Amino acid sequence: MPIRRLVGGIELGGTKSIVAVGYNDGTILERISLPTVVPELLIPQIAAFLREQQMRLGEISALGVGAFGPITLDPKAHNYGKLLETNKQGWSGFDLASALRSATGLAPNIVTDVASAGIAEAHLGALRQSELGVYLTVGTGIGGAIIYHGKPLPALLHPEIGHVALQRHTTDTAPSACRFHPSCAEGLAAGPAIMARFGQSLRHFAPGSAEHGLIADYLGQLCANLVFTLSPQRIILGGGVGQTPSLIDATRASMLDRLGGYATEAIACDHFLSAPHLGQDAGIVGALCIAGHGNAMSESLSGGCKSWQL
Ligand SMILES: [Zn+2]
Repeated sequence: MPIRRLVGGIELGGTKSIVAVGYNDGTILERISLPTVVPELLIPQIAAFLREQQMRLGEISALGVGAFGPITLDPKAHNYGKLLETNKQGWSGFDLASALRSATGLAPNIVTDVASAGIAEAHLGALRQSELGVYLTVGTGIGGAIIYHGKPLPALLHPEIGHVALQRHTTDTAPSACRFHPSCAEGLAAGPAIMARFGQSLRHFAPGSAEHGLIADYLGQLCANLVFTLSPQRIILGGGVGQTPSLIDATRASMLDRLGGYATEAIACDHFLSAPHLGQDAGIVGALCIAGHGNAMSESLSGGCKSWQL
């Protein structure tokens, strides 16, 4: 039985960031939500909160981080924990790992924000019974993590599932919301694409409407591509758009349609494509779970999966 340790967790989001102190089994004791301002202002606020909680609760032994990307996650890379080019003002090229180490005295274990949520679902939520699962988040962007035995699958950078190209409907002439691709999933079906095309969020349209049908078909295509490529045991669909009532059911129907004859009984069941169990807490719970476990990729590569089971 792994030792329960007091740890810190950070969910670094595009708009807001959550910092928590709790146990490495995912239990949250204290948390704070901070606007994701420029790093020079945010990092000291994070460090101050952790110091304050340490005075109250005891020594924090490790730090886990789920961060927006793109970010280098190969522990062997000279720029591990450094953000690449990003739209988020002030963060391009920022060395997150070094900054957190300097400010807190703790070497952070960093994964993507979506991987952090996926890890939490694997340990405590909807992916608990799955050896291989996919966590998708559909909100201001589309992100995805491939979780194998409770960890993100080792990768060159990290998956960019939101940029998978889809078959655009011939009647859909809306410009892509992705500046890189004319018909990727994020450009066609994330929140900004929905707002630009329909003028309001999907919640304003009834289940079964043409608007729901279009977005569900795009997300269904994406899920079908994931089934064909990875054959996961389960796909979790989270995020703000993902929470739209009935959208998961419509997406499941579209996925099955797109799979054609390859839709097995296991894929057709309601559980295969479902909502996250931990809801909005998944990201920060995952950050606590990975604290002190070294880098996700190096552990996976060294075959240390079992050591990460809670
Ligand atoms: Zn794209």
